[in-house]
Formats: sequence, C-alpha cells, structure tokens
Amino acid sequence: MSNFSHFGLAPSIEKALAAEGYETPTPIQTQAIPHVMAGRDLCGIAQTGTGKTAAFALPILHHFAEHVRQTPRRGCRALVLSPTRELASQIADSFRAYGRHLRLSTAVVFGGVPIGKQERTLAGGVDILVATPGRLLDLIDRRSLSLRDVEVFVLDEADRMLDLGFIHDLRRIVKLLPAERQTLFFSATMPATIASLAAAFLNDPVQVAVRPEATTAERVEQSIMFVPTAQKPALLHAVLSEPTVERVLVFTRTKHGADKVVRSLAAGGIAAAAIHGNKSQPQRERALAGFKSGHCRVLVATDIAARGIDVDGVTHVVNYDLPNIPESYVHRIGRTARAGAAGIAISFCNSEEREYLRDIEKVTRMKVPVAELPKGIAALPAEPVRAEPSHHRPGRPQQQRQGQRPAQGQGRGAQGQGNGHGRGQGRGNGSGNGRAPERQEAGRQRPAQQQRRSRPADGHVRPAGQGDGGAIGWLSHGASRSR
Ligand code: AMP
Repeated sequence: MSNFSHFGLAPSIEKALAAEGYETPTPIQTQAIPHVMAGRDLCGIAQTGTGKTAAFALPILHHFAEHVRQTPRRGCRALVLSPTRELASQIADSFRAYGRHLRLSTAVVFGGVPIGKQERTLAGGVDILVATPGRLLDLIDRRSLSLRDVEVFVLDEADRMLDLGFIHDLRRIVKLLPAERQTLFFSATMPATIASLAAAFLNDPVQVAVRPEATTAERVEQSIMFVPTAQKPALLHAVLSEPTVERVLVFTRTKHGADKVVRSLAAGGIAAAAIHGNKSQPQRERALAGFKSGHCRVLVATDIAARGIDVDGVTHVVNYDLPNIPESYVHRIGRTARAGAAGIAISFCNSEEREYLRDIEKVTRMKVPVAELPKGIAALPAEPVRAEPSHHRPGRPQQQRQGQRPAQGQGRGAQGQGNGHGRGQGRGNGSGNGRAPERQEAGRQRPAQQQRRSRPADGHVRPAGQGDGGAIGWLSHGASRSR
C-alpha cells in the first residue's frame, strides 16, 4: 500500500502512480490534495520541482473519473494555463501519465505551431486542456473554443505569467470562465501584485506553501569557479569530460551564448543540443527528447527556455554564465534536485559576475563554496577588493527584479518566447526578439567607476584556482570545498 492510499484517489490513478514510481506524496501534494479533492479553491506557493503538477492533476483526474461527462463540443472541463510551451507540454504529459488508465482526453495548445490541428482536436471537446494564454485567446477569437464549460481552472506559475506580460490576457481569460468553478492558483513567489491577482481569481481559498524558493538551493551541492571569460570554454570541456557528469544542463544568459557553447563543445568532440527561444518548436522538442532519452547528455539552455524543464536524473547543472537575477540561479540549480533528489551545481564566475554572485548569496542566504580549477585552466586573479552590498545595483535594472513586470514591450516580446506566435495587430511581435530574460544582458556591464568603489573583502575573498590543479574532485557529491 503506497502512502498515496489515504487520499482515497481512484484505484486506477493509484495504479498509475505506482507505475511512475511515486511512493510518498511531496509536501505540496500532502497539503493540497485533500482540499482540492474536497472542492476548495487553492492558493499554493510552490515552484516547479516540488511535485505541484500532481498536486492539482490528481484531484482533477479523480473528480473526472468519479463524475463522467460527455466532453463539451469546442470546450474543455479543466483548463490549465501555463506561461511556457515546455511547461505546458510537461503538464499535459503528467495528466496523461497519471490518467493513463482513465478514459479521459488531454490536449495541449501553444503558439509556434499550426493552429488548424489544435482546432480539429478541440472540435469534439476535451476533458483537460493545457494552454499558454496567447494561443488560448487565438482559439477563442476564432470561435474554435469556448470556456463556458470549464469546471476547474488552474493557473500555474502566476508570477512567471506576470513577468512575461500576460496579465491582460489572464484577466480576459478569467472573464470568460463560468463564475461557478474551482480555481487552483500556483506561484513560486507571492509579491503584492500576485496576491491581489489571486484575491481576484479565487473564492475563499485554502492557502498552502512549501519551502520558500530561496531555500530549495540547500539541497543542491553548489560550487563556484572563478575563471576569466576566455577560459570558460576550456573549463566547460574539462568539467564535461568527467565521467560523473552523466546528464548535464548548461545555462547561458543569452541565446547567442547558448549556440556558441554548443559549437565550442562540438569542436572539442562533445555533442550538445541547445534549447532557447530562437529554436523552432520541433527543434526544441527534438533537443529535449534527446536529452530525456539520454541520447544527448548535454543540453545548453537559456533561463526562460529551461523554465519548467522536467527531466529526472540531471546529475549536474553548470552555470556557464551567472544569471544577474538571483532567483534565476535558484531556478537553474533546482533542475538538478527534482523531487527530493540531490544534485550538483557548478558555476563559472568571471570578474563582472562577482557582483551577481554576491546578490545570489544574499538571496539564498548561503555562501557558495569555491572549487579548484582543473589543471591547465588559468585562474581569475583574486578579487582585490570587495564591495559592500548596496541597495541599488546599476548592473541589475530595477524592473528586472523578481515579481516586477517588465517594461512595456519587453513583456510582449516575451510572449513570443512563451507562446511563440504573432497574434496580429496590437499584440506586438509575438515571435519577435524582445524576450525579456535574455535582454537582461543589456544591463550587465558595471561601470568601471562602480568597480573602483569596491571595499575590502569581508573575509571571503576567493582564492580562485589556487588549488593543486589536480583531479576535479568536486564533481561528485561530498567533494566540495568550503572557503
Ligand atoms: P513538478 O513540480 O510537478 O514539476 O514535479 C517535479 C518532478 O517530481 C517530476 O519529475 C515529477 O514526476 C516528480 N514527482 C512528483 N511527485 C512525486 C512523488 N510523489 N514522488 C516522486 N516523484 C514525484
């Protein structure tokens, strides 16, 4: 008997969970499932990787298994909104996996692919529809879909929706839903804007929260390597040549950077695939499928493309570039610690990125241990001075902070990334290049003056690369050094 039994889920769902290898519910599942099964609205603070998909999918499947109904023509019974196509696909896959013994239909719709096939799928109606907001509205505008029969509405990654500029789409969508419905609202963070959105969408919700985002970093064994930019390709090559690095996600800040890394790895005989907003949907799917199957062990990704990538068994995350948003660091390294597993995250830090590291350490409330560089990699000179934390950092524009909306136009462009399509006049260039997270590069350069104002170190100046240059011992668990 599994620990899922006490929820009273339909036996066919329990059977599917057993096949998935789920034995114990995760904290968000334990907290949320009973309330959702009881029909309550829910406001959950949880990020991807906590098992939140099952927290909402299992009760929905159970409810539909108990209350069989004809699917509404050009409609759906459950609507799940996701900010990105990758996450949407993964959510749909989860519904299909958990509901494999039920006779329920699940469809996923997002931009960047022809709409006709989606319209045909929806013609007869589906039980569960997972969608990104832009394409959903396209389908509604074309009268290929109506939301009037929705019984359960799930809003996933609400904070990300806001970041990507989907707020107006969301408000429009919610107006089209029946007033009588169950609403499940998930967000990794709950700044005031999200809280007010939740208040507008939910009816007397149960609140559940699992570990605050910043502390998820604790499960991952982290290390930092101080290295000049020019040495990063060689260092990555050395890291990936270690046999313990079985399945690795490499993060770059920009799409261009991701492609460059793939090319440099290929030149060194290491096969890698890239996933980012300039790749077509089939290319992304191929890259992900190759990575999931183990065919390709290195996937190079930008932050937004990787958001929600759900691949079990990622042994290592490499931050080829450090992100200038600390929360992105937490999201990145969380890719290697899925559902309670431990993982290893290695970050490369050049002189400009030291400031980002300080921001990251402030947010995660932990110091990242310094790792030695392998033989042959020149170290970054030790940091001569160390800046005191300041409130305003020119390298990190205000509007890019977590929970704040991108400037007008940025979010619109970002929709193309999440949704990958042009929605015509007035909706901006859906497939354009103004993708917010990757624009952050623009704000990176710190004025020299700012560097000069740095203050003496507070005791953790990194003696970068001053080790013996021997074997890369930090690539397996328990081997990181503390400073
Ligand atoms: P999610 O936060 O929904 O993206 O889930 C993160 C990962 O955890 C996915 O790979 C799920 O398949 C996995 N997962 C979810 N719930 C459980 C569970 N109770 N036991 C084991 N793995 C789980």
